Amino acid sequence: MLKTHTCGELRPEQAGQEVVLAGWVNRRRDQGGLIFIDLRDRWGVTQVVVDRDSAPEAHSVADQARGEFVLQVKGIVRIRPEGSANPDLPTGAIDVSASEIKILNNAKTPPFYINDDERLEREGLDESIRMKHRYLDLRRQKMQKNIVLRHKTIKFIRDYLDQQNFVEVETPILFKTTPEGARDFLVPSRLQPGKFYALPQSPQQLKQMLMVAGFEKYFQVARCFRDEDLRGQRQPEFTQLDMEISFVEREDVMELNEKLMTQLVETVAPEKTIMHKPFPRILYKDAMEQYGTDRPDIRYDLRAIDVSEIAGESGFSVFVKNVQAGQPVKCIRAPKMAGELSGTQLRKVASELEDIAKKAGAKGLAYMALPLEEDAEVKGPIGKFFTVDQKLALFEAVGAEPGDLLLFMSDKREVVYSVTEALRPMLASQLGLLDPNTLGFCWVIDFPEFMWNEDEKRWDPSQHMFTMPIEEDLHLLDTDPGAARGSQYDMVCNGHEVAGGSIRIHDREIQKKIFPLIGLEMDHAMEQFGHILEAFEYGVPPHGGIAWGLDRVVALLAAEPNIREVIAFPKTQTGADAMAGAPSPAEPGQLAELGIKLDLPEDDE
Ligand code: ASP
Repeated sequence: MLKTHTCGELRPEQAGQEVVLAGWVNRRRDQGGLIFIDLRDRWGVTQVVVDRDSAPEAHSVADQARGEFVLQVKGIVRIRPEGSANPDLPTGAIDVSASEIKILNNAKTPPFYINDDERLEREGLDESIRMKHRYLDLRRQKMQKNIVLRHKTIKFIRDYLDQQNFVEVETPILFKTTPEGARDFLVPSRLQPGKFYALPQSPQQLKQMLMVAGFEKYFQVARCFRDEDLRGQRQPEFTQLDMEISFVEREDVMELNEKLMTQLVETVAPEKTIMHKPFPRILYKDAMEQYGTDRPDIRYDLRAIDVSEIAGESGFSVFVKNVQAGQPVKCIRAPKMAGELSGTQLRKVASELEDIAKKAGAKGLAYMALPLEEDAEVKGPIGKFFTVDQKLALFEAVGAEPGDLLLFMSDKREVVYSVTEALRPMLASQLGLLDPNTLGFCWVIDFPEFMWNEDEKRWDPSQHMFTMPIEEDLHLLDTDPGAARGSQYDMVCNGHEVAGGSIRIHDREIQKKIFPLIGLEMDHAMEQFGHILEAFEYGVPPHGGIAWGLDRVVALLAAEPNIREVIAFPKTQTGADAMAGAPSPAEPGQLAELGIKLDLPEDDE
């Protein structure tokens, strides 16, 4: 080893020892006769002092060193003199008095601060520069911490599942379509020109095959590929903790995963608090009605409460008409949000919220502001359409208190969902209710088996085509597929789906029934999924499983809003690797071997 210790390791106990450190120049201060170098490696920073009088050669080398040079330093550990210790640094009680310094490598001035995350954050940094020089970005302390946290997370999961008798099995990347509702990435076959592999969107079919094979408890840290438009935080390739178990019911899978998640958080991110243990179970329809989404952030209340009955009796014609037409009126109570606002301030706040509601599809957003004083009038344009009794009934229904702002939504049910979904996080952020150290886990269950796809005029599976309908709803597949519930369960945390799974169909006849419902012609289904039906003829155990979005889980544990921050080499919004320049054109010879001729619009060629 070119070092005896790491740069994060030395303490006063080692005073007097000769040590060798190696790492990068984090900072260098030249005070004439003395040069101070903060030497950095993955484990920390140690101050090296180079004295011209006692070590003239080392001093002249230190003189040439610049930020990010790679150095090897030999020297003696000293306790720092009174008053010069640095309590913020774990090694801050000592320094190393250098006797020899070797420059192991030079460095150009980096394009951004590697040694000052705070400054970088303050000044902002062009994402494309970070991504182009990802190796430098990853050298930053924060990124190193994130990547190490990822390693610890995966290690914990592997150890835990190993103890529970799971076996990790790798499944192929070059495979056939394993659909999860996205577009496949295709890989042309050279040996069979004109044919293509599809990269798996998940190991779904393969893990079910492993259940047929009798492994009973499978997991894999699995790479998945989905060729989607990269809206938001999606990555074309991402990592799942994939799991499948035989002879289980829904609760078994949920309980195992809840325990794993809880222990994971408590071990690798002990600063986090899990809000509810056990995780609450929320029915899909309640999630939609109250939170407007199947990924509710339950760290804060701000639920949409149905007040149709009261509002339908009011004098406000919009509400009355909507209720008559079967559309709901719902209210979100923002605690103390009206507080002491003046009329003008209130109108401004309300109009900003209305803009958000309109972007989500609403025609408007009615509100009532409750005064702080008991007998003052309610502010806001619709107060006058409610009688005193109606107002009291309303306040009781939503639990209103003085100073609250009540927001009313009324429209088609789906529109009210979107508006609820858009308003809640916005209100929560304004009310300071988004604490990244609180993890509000919950399970969402009883999803519909199918969702109607109006464009294609067919049913789409809400999860995927292998999800077993809930037993008592099986008969609905023939009569009213839209009403059938699936055995799907999603683990949700702070507004993100962190895991999703289901009990699977293990009966060939039920599987066959699903294909035509989701618009798969039987011939085509047999071509794509015949192997599943065939496997199902050989004794399939009842089984179920789940997959975690591992990138998202690590991002939550690292309190990073974007999963890019916990993936070593992520893709950019255009699906590119900015560092290496992928994707890139293929050589004509390669294309010829594959029997591929390009036919691109001119400017893409
Ligand atoms: N394969 C599913 C997914 O990727 C998860 C599962 O059902 O286990 O979402």
